[in-house]
Amino acid sequence: MNIELQCCALFIIFSISVMFLHEKKLDLMNRRLFQRAIKACFACLIFDILSVILINLSVYSDFDPFITGIVCKIYIMLLVLQGFFGYLYASTSLLPRDRMRAKAVRILSHLIFCTGEIMMLLLPISFTASDRVVYSYGPSTSVAYILSAIYILSTIVITIVYKKHMPGRRFIAMLLWQGIWLLAALVQFIRPELLLVGFASSFGMVILYIQLENPSEYIDGSTGLFNTNALSAYIHDKYRFNKPFSLFTAKIHYLTDNVDYNMEQEAVMRSAKALVSLGPEPAFRIDDDTFCVVYDNSERMFEKAADIKRQKDAVTDLPANGTYLLIPDSTQMSGPDEFFRFLHTYLENEQEITVADDKLVQKLRDQNRIKELIDDALRMDRVVVFFQPFFNVKESCFDTAEALVRIKNEDGSLIPPGEFIPVAEETGQIIPLGIRIFEKVCMFLKKGEADRYGLKQIEANISAAQFDYDNPAKYVLQLTEEYGIDPGKLNLEITETAAARNRDIMLRNMNTLIERGITFSLDDFGTGRSNIDYFVNMPVKIIKFDYSFTHSFFENDKTKFVLTGMVDILHKLNMSVVAEGIETEEQMRVMKDMGVEYLQGYYYSRPLPEDEYIAFLKQHSLASDLQG
Ligand code: C2E
Ligand code: CA
Ligand code: CA
Repeated sequence: MNIELQCCALFIIFSISVMFLHEKKLDLMNRRLFQRAIKACFACLIFDILSVILINLSVYSDFDPFITGIVCKIYIMLLVLQGFFGYLYASTSLLPRDRMRAKAVRILSHLIFCTGEIMMLLLPISFTASDRVVYSYGPSTSVAYILSAIYILSTIVITIVYKKHMPGRRFIAMLLWQGIWLLAALVQFIRPELLLVGFASSFGMVILYIQLENPSEYIDGSTGLFNTNALSAYIHDKYRFNKPFSLFTAKIHYLTDNVDYNMEQEAVMRSAKALVSLGPEPAFRIDDDTFCVVYDNSERMFEKAADIKRQKDAVTDLPANGTYLLIPDSTQMSGPDEFFRFLHTYLENEQEITVADDKLVQKLRDQNRIKELIDDALRMDRVVVFFQPFFNVKESCFDTAEALVRIKNEDGSLIPPGEFIPVAEETGQIIPLGIRIFEKVCMFLKKGEADRYGLKQIEANISAAQFDYDNPAKYVLQLTEEYGIDPGKLNLEITETAAARNRDIMLRNMNTLIERGITFSLDDFGTGRSNIDYFVNMPVKIIKFDYSFTHSFFENDKTKFVLTGMVDILHKLNMSVVAEGIETEEQMRVMKDMGVEYLQGYYYSRPLPEDEYIAFLKQHSLASDLQG
C-alpha cells in the first residue's frame, strides 16, 4: 500500500512534537499557532494513512464505502485546516494593527474557512484505487483543492508583501514551507501515485521548528531563563494583542572592581534562582547582569518586588547589590519601540529604585524628539555657528570670538544649544555634532575675511562627553589640516566637569593639541564646581569667569573681595581672565578696573551669525570708539 511516505512524515511530526513539548516555552501567539499547526498536521497524516487503507479496502474488498467517504472527507477537511493555520501563522503578526480592521480580516477569513469546511462535509466525494494510485475526487475534493490553493497563495503573497516587517530568516522559512507544499501538490496532481502532500507538510513543520519555533533559541544557556530575543518577541506580542503588563527589572551592581568569573557566576545564578522562585511569571536574562520578570498587573509586580527586596536584604555575603527599574503600566508607552528605548535608557540609572511614571516617559519622549532633531540638523546641514566677539581690553579691539552652535529650524527660527547639547552628550551625538561645529569654524577661518579686520583667535567649546566617546584631538587636527588652518588660530574652552571626569584622557588630548599650537581656556569658572587644582595643574592659559561669578561681584563686599583676589592670583600664575556676561556699562567698567583682560557679553554684542559678525568687525575696526 502506498503509505510509506506518510508513515515517515508521521514519525517526523511525532519527533518534533516530543522536542517541542519537552522544552520550556513562552506564551506567544505564533507559538500557539505553531502548536495548532503541528496538531493539525498530525491528525491530517493519520487520516491520510487511514483513507488510503480504507479506499483500498473498499475497492478491493467490501468495506463500507460510506465510512471510507467520511474518512476521506475528514482527511481533506484537515488538509484545508492545515492550510488555514499556515495562513494564520503567517498573517496574525502582520495584518492590520488597527483593531477594528484586524478583527474584520479575522472574521472574514474564519467565515471563508467555515463555509469551505461545511461545503466539503455536505458535497459528495468519490474515490478510486488502482495499483499504487489512490485518490479521492468529486465536488468535495475540488473545494479542498481551491481552498488550499487560496491559503497557500495568500500566505506566500502576505510573506512577500510584508517582507520588510519580518526578519530575513522568517521570510525564507515561510517561503520554503509554503513553496514545498505547493510543489508537492503539483507533483501529486501530475503523478497521483506520488502521495507527497503529507510528507511535504511535515517537512514544512521541520523548517518552521528549526528556523522559527525552536524554543531553545529563546533560552539563556547558563541560567535557563528566557533571553533577550524572547523578551523582544514577548513584548511585541503583548503590545500587538493589546495585553497590558508590568515589568520588574533588576540589575546587579558589583561593589568591587575585581569581579572575578566565579563571583559573577554566583551572583548571576543566585539572582536567576531568586527570580524563578518568585512565581510562575516568565523571567528573562536580558544582559550579563540584568534580569526582568513580566507580570500581568502592577499589584502583583509590586508585591513580588517587595519579596525580592526582602530576599536581597537577607543575602549580604556577595559584594554586590541591585538597582531596580519598575514599569507598572505598559500602556504608558506607545509601543514596543518606545518601551525598549525606555528600558535601555533607564536601566543605566544609578538610583536604587526607579519607577516609570508619566514624567519619566515624557522626558524620554522629549529627549527622543531632540535626538531626531539633531540627526535631521546634521543630515540637512542645519547646524549653524554664531560668533560672539570678545573685547580685548589691552589692545582695545575685538580680536577674539566664541563660536556658539545653534540649530536652525525649517522656518528659520533658532534652537539654543542649552536645549540640545545635553541630549547630544547623552546620546553620543556630540561626536558628529562636535566635528560639524569644528568644520564650520574651520570653514569660516579659511575664508580669511575676519583676519582682515583683526581676528586673532576663535574659541570653540568642547564638552566633557567628547572625551568620553572619542579622542577629540584626532579630528581637531585632521580638520585644521584639511582646511589648511593654523592651529594657533583655535582656542578650546573646556569645562571643569570635563576636567574632573576624564582627566587622563583629557590631558593626553590637550597635550597633543598644545604641541601643535592650540591653546585652552577653562570655561564656566565659578559655577560651584571650581577647584583650584584644575587651573593650577591644567595646561590652560585663560580662565573664563562664568556669568554668575561675574555678577556676584555686585552682590556684596565679600564676593567682591574674593573676585578681586582671584583675578590677582590668576595673574600671578600668568593666566588671563575673560569675564562673561557683561551686560551693562557699570559691569564693563568694574571688570576693566579689576584688570580682567577680555570682556564678553551683550553689552558689546550678542552672538551673531557669520555675516553680521563680519559686519560688526568691519565697523569696529574702522571706528574703535565703543569702548569708551
Ligand atoms: P557657554 O560656553 O558658557 O557660552 C556662553 C553663553 O552665554 C552663550 O549661550 C552666550 O550666548 C551667553 N551669553 C553671552 N553673553 C551674555 C550676556 O551678556 N548675558 C547673558 N545672559 N548671556 C550671555 P549659548 O550660546 O546659549 O550657549 C549655551 C551653552 O551651550 C554654552 O555655554 C556652552 O556650554 C554650550 N555650547 C554652545 N556652543 C557649543 C558648542 O559648539 N559645543 C559645545 N560642546 N557646547 C556648546
Ligand atoms: Ca564657552
Ligand atoms: Ca561659559
